[in-house]
Formats: sequence, structure tokens, C-alpha cells
Amino acid sequence: FPSRLPNVGTTIFTVMSALAAEHQAINLGQGFPDFPCDRNLIGKVNEAMLADHNQYPPMIGIGDLRNGIAKKIGDLYQHHYDPDTEITVTAGGTQGILTVILSCVGPGDEVIIIEPAYDSYRPSIELAGGKAIAVSLETMRDQNGQVASYVIPWEALTKAINPKTRLMIINTPHNPTGMVWQKADLDRLASLLKNTSTLVLSDEVYEHMVYDGAKHHSVASHPELAARSFLISSFGKTYHVTGWKVGYVAAPASLTAEFRKVHQFNVFTVNTPMQYGLASYLSEAAHYLNLPDFYQAKRDFFRAELEKTGFKQLPTPGTYFQCVDYTALNIPEAKLPEAEFCKWLTTEVGVAAIPVSAFYQKPTESGVVRFCFAKQEKTLASALQRLQSL
Ligand code: GLN
Repeated sequence: FPSRLPNVGTTIFTVMSALAAEHQAINLGQGFPDFPCDRNLIGKVNEAMLADHNQYPPMIGIGDLRNGIAKKIGDLYQHHYDPDTEITVTAGGTQGILTVILSCVGPGDEVIIIEPAYDSYRPSIELAGGKAIAVSLETMRDQNGQVASYVIPWEALTKAINPKTRLMIINTPHNPTGMVWQKADLDRLASLLKNTSTLVLSDEVYEHMVYDGAKHHSVASHPELAARSFLISSFGKTYHVTGWKVGYVAAPASLTAEFRKVHQFNVFTVNTPMQYGLASYLSEAAHYLNLPDFYQAKRDFFRAELEKTGFKQLPTPGTYFQCVDYTALNIPEAKLPEAEFCKWLTTEVGVAAIPVSAFYQKPTESGVVRFCFAKQEKTLASALQRLQSL
């Protein structure tokens, strides 16, 4: 039968993790922590299971968890979502993304994405019958030609918007660059969309990983944008439990109603004991409030040691990813395309990374690869030792 996704292979994250395992490489590719989550969180899930919370939960998620999510968003971003009509628990961020897209995009609709873009966006749009319209993130360079900051391509975005634009996907903090949106960016987006019926999917799964005292600017903090946005976040990222696959989507009631029509036949519900455990854990705000410091220490350690290598570092204001330019390394492999370079780095040097070209549809080579620093210091130190040998 004709493939629904003829141009799609296996996601790069799975490919690189498999290659890393095969070659016993240190896996700084796929984004996940190599350290344990809090035992108290596991204890809470355990208690929930022993208390027989093991049957289907409500389709939209258990009340305690939705109430906790509403409180968190209210505390951090001063927007009140009604937990009953505006918040839905999902099986991770990626399911939230697909379900949002399936619920509002159809044949003939256009969806704007900003590349480099997370690899699930485009196939999800195509499955819905929509068309992905990619614009590229711009970079500002310093006098040495190094990337100093990222700039949202406002002109290209303005040109891309037309009456067929059903949805625009934004992602802050941004995977893979770590770029974060500022308040002025949200203002500009709101004015760009003012007289349109374009909706926004805001992927904020790295919301608690913003550094140097900066603030995360959520669409929830912007009333005009909140009124047309699906906000997505992930407990896997926040609580170091990527394998649990629990996240949420918050959106105005009219959007949530459409979202839930699809969600109920997509996953129906999300596992019950994890929801109870997370609901109880979420009430202790310190866990997410401490996350920026926790990850900044890792980022700073990783960056300080990377300075001793020939890799040129790109700025990392957010996320747990560090992008590096390898083209100035004094080795023949510095001329390889990104995917080949990552393969070589994994199999011959023993450190797995993700080629940034995987975040583009059209062949794009910028000589940049992504490392994940959500690792124990000893893991980072061993990887750095190998990188410093280049
Ligand atoms: N978001 C994670 C990353 O960019 C991986 C998620 C996945 O593997 N699907 O590494």
C-alpha cells in the first residue's frame, strides 16, 4: 500500500541511541538523563499502585494532576486554565503534538514551522494532510564569525502567513539550539497573528531549563497568545523520567474540546499510577524551581571543558542541549557532513551526538552537532576526555 510517510525513516534519536549502544559509546545524542529520578517520586507512584489506582483514569487525566498543572501555570505565568475544560494529560509531549495537529489541521491547511525543528512536527502535519511551511531561524555572528545569538525570522514568517495558515508551531526553549523567546518576541508574534485565524502550538517542554537568571516566557503569560494557543509540556523532561511518557496540553476550552475528540481515540487515557505520583510530587514546587540551577551547573561544567577542545560552542541560553561547530577541528573528519561526522564520532571516538541537519527537511549542512548534557558529571567528564583527544 502507498506509504503515508514516504520520506520518513526511523527517527534520528532512535538511530543514534542504537548506534551508541552497539558501539558502547557514551550517549550524548538522544535527550534523556542518565541519572536516577527522585526516589520520593517513585515512592509516590508505588503508593498509588498499592492503593489500587490501577484502572482507567478519567480520559482527560486525574483531577489532582490537572489541578496541580493549573496551579503551576497560574503561579509561574499568571494565566488561569480551567482544569476541567482546558487541561488534558497526555502520553508525553510528542503525543500532545500529534494530537493537537490531528485535531486542527486538515487537507489544504498550512502549518508554519521554524527550522531547525523537532523531527516529529513535519510528519505529524503530513499525517493530518496538511502542508508544512518551513522558515529558518537566523543567526547573528560576532566578529570572529561565531554564532552569537539566534534571531526569529520575522520577515519570512510575515511572508509565510496567509489565509491557509491554520497553525504555527513555536518551541521555546528551542531544541536543538537552546534559543529562548523573549517577551518582545511573544508581543511580535501576537501582533503578527492579530487579524488571522492562525492557531499556535507552543512546545515548551524545556520550560524549566532557562539559564543565567533569565525567565521562560510562556504563551500562557501572554493573554492574546494564550487565547489561540495549545501549550505543551512534559513531566519526563522536568522530573528526569522520560520513559514515563506523561505530559500535558493546556488550551482554551473551545480548542481543548476539539483536542479531546482526537485524544480519546488516540491514547484514550494515560497510565494511572504515574498520574497520582506526579500529582503529589507537583505540589512541591521546589522540584521544578530548582531545575535551572541544577542544569546550569551541568551546562557550565560541560562548556568550560569544551573550551579546551577545537569545537566552537554555540550559545545555550536554555534546554539541556549544547550545539557545537566541528568544522575548525584539525582532523580530516572535520569536513564530513553532519550525519557522517556523528556516525564517526560515535563509532570511532565513542561519543554519540545528533546531527543538526536532522532538524531540517532540505539538505542543510552547517557543520553543527548537538550534545545532550543531562548527564552525571562523571559521564560528561569521560565524554569530554574523548572529545579533548581530537
Ligand atoms: N526530544 C528528545 C531529543 O530531542 C528525544 C525525544 C525522542 O527521542 N523522541 O533528544
